[in-house]
Order: sequence, then structure tokens, then C-alpha cells
Amino acid sequence: VRRILVCANWKMHGTVASVQAYLETLIAQAGAADAEIVLCPPFTLLPAALLIATGSSVAIGAQNCHWADKGAFTGEVAAPMLAELGVRFAIVGHSERRHHFGETDATAAARAQAAQRAGLAVIFCLGETLAQRDAGETFAVLERGLLVGAYEPRWAIGTGRNATPAQAQEAHTALRRRARELFGDEAAERLRILYGGSVKPDNTAALLAGNDVDGALVGGASLDAEGFCAIIHAGPGRRSGA
Ligand code: PEP
Repeated sequence: VRRILVCANWKMHGTVASVQAYLETLIAQAGAADAEIVLCPPFTLLPAALLIATGSSVAIGAQNCHWADKGAFTGEVAAPMLAELGVRFAIVGHSERRHHFGETDATAAARAQAAQRAGLAVIFCLGETLAQRDAGETFAVLERGLLVGAYEPRWAIGTGRNATPAQAQEAHTALRRRARELFGDEAAERLRILYGGSVKPDNTAALLAGNDVDGALVGGASLDAEGFCAIIHAGPGRRSGA
């Protein structure tokens, strides 16, 4: 049985004051939810977020981590540094990292391995561009990139244009099939595959209806606490393994 996971990715937004108010609302509502809830604020807000979330059912994640455990990498943050703080998750390979900062499947995989070494759970993002989808390359892109995942069609991120529930389920089924080939039945059944790309309160239930859609990675709509809580409550709590 896979527990639904709903993750807020704040990207480069937020202040200490806003994370406090947000988490108070989220924690008050999270207790009643079956889903696992993760907030990924910018690095600077991690200590404040961790302090506020201590003892609650909300976990805190980072939006990235480096592939080395330490070293001469100015401006980067290593996974053991995050683990030391109490961070439990790391988003890796987000499309904005790929688009703006030259992240590739190879560097994303190295970051994911570093996160796992440090004991962090990895939310590994992969997805096709619109040109790749139009060229029929969606499944090739997914197959190339798979580790553990959040399927985020790049044409759906921050665009207001989400995949249809059928498109999401089809991609997730393909990812799980590939995971089965790579890692075996048991690991594939345990793998939680999140959908990301313009998830909003009013499209969550439909998107999460697919049997292989085990949660959501939410960008823009996660910035508003009430809206994010509505997303959490719109989805099912658990997905029984096929
Ligand atoms: C994201 O940042 O992972 C994302 C899916 O963004 P949005 O929900 O804004 O499309």
C-alpha cells in the first residue's frame, strides 16, 4: 500500500514570517489528512521551518542538494548538511534546475545518490518538454531518466496547463513498468510516483484518481496555505499496490 505524498515546492519564494504563518495553518490541518505532507522551502528557511514543524506530521525537504558530500563547490549545499538539520526529503532534477542551471539526467542521478547516502528520501523529477511530447518522445525521456520519481511534464510546470488525468496515469504506468524491469516487482510496487505540473485544488482529485498516481508535487498553488490544504484533502490517502 503506497501512502499518498503531497509536496509543496516553494521555489524561490517565502520569508521567515510567511513560513511561520503557513506552517501553523498546514500543521493544524495536516493531522486529519491521511497523506504524507512535505514542505520544501528555500534553503534559508529550512531552520525556521524545521523548528516550527518539530513534532508535527509535516516533513521538511530541500529543493536540491549537491552530489559531493563536501568540497570546493561555492554556493552549493551538501546532502549531509541538510540531514544534520533534520531535513528528510530532497527534490532532485527539477525541470527548473534542468532548464536554467544545466542539470542533466547524469548530474541529477549523482545528486540523488548523494541524498540517499545522507539518508534523505529523494523526490526525483523527470518529464518531457512540449517539443519532446509532440515528437512522440515522452516515454523515451522517462525511460532515460528513471530513478524514483515525480513525473513532471515540463510543458505543464508553471504554465497553468496540466496533463489530463489519462496522460498522467499513462506516464506513471510506463514509469512503474520500467521500474519493475530495473528494480524488481517489490521495489516497483513501493515506488511512489508523484505528478507535478499545474496541480490545483480543483484538478487534484481527477489527477490523483489514476492507480499509479501516488501524490502531487505542487509549485505555484502550494504558496497559499489554504489552497495547499485543499489539495491535500482532495486526494485519496492511500493507494493500494496493484
Ligand atoms: C513544480 O514546481 O514542481 C511544479 C509542478 O510547479 P507548478 O505546480 O507551479 O506547475
